Amino acid sequence: MNLDRVRAKLAAVPDPEIPAVSLVELGIVRGLHATDAGLEVVLTPTYSGCPATELIADDVRAALAEFGPVTVTLQRVPVWTTDWITPEGREKLQQYGIVPPQCHVGDGSEQAILMLPRLRCPRCSGAATEQLSRFGSTPCKSTWRCIECGEPFEYFKPI
Ligand SMILES: [Zn+2]
Repeated sequence: MNLDRVRAKLAAVPDPEIPAVSLVELGIVRGLHATDAGLEVVLTPTYSGCPATELIADDVRAALAEFGPVTVTLQRVPVWTTDWITPEGREKLQQYGIVPPQCHVGDGSEQAILMLPRLRCPRCSGAATEQLSRFGSTPCKSTWRCIECGEPFEYFKPI
């Protein structure tokens, strides 16, 4: 089996919640093995509260179906961290209008989130921004607004 072809196919599977970014760029794909029983893909889901895990596993199985049987293994330890997002992934998040995690601030608790540095607007780079809500379209993100251009944007919380 040509694993390079499998890898290329896997690299094109988008995240169901943020289609601008692939699963590989988000750091969700942790391993790819060819076994006697077929392919095994190891995934570490992002935030445990994210409901997309089953969807992600289905997308991976569908994308690799042409290579034969695919087993998806969920690996929850070590837990996923926003540090695993690749530089390309961060770039794409920014272009998509979501500010990528700025730094690792510990356990994602409210206190840690409140310690975040001021975010720059992904559209106009304005430095005057305010948090509107601790939660965005998913629990993984918070909603912010740029005071300079008035546009709302989302922030991918670091964990
Ligand atoms: Zn702005």
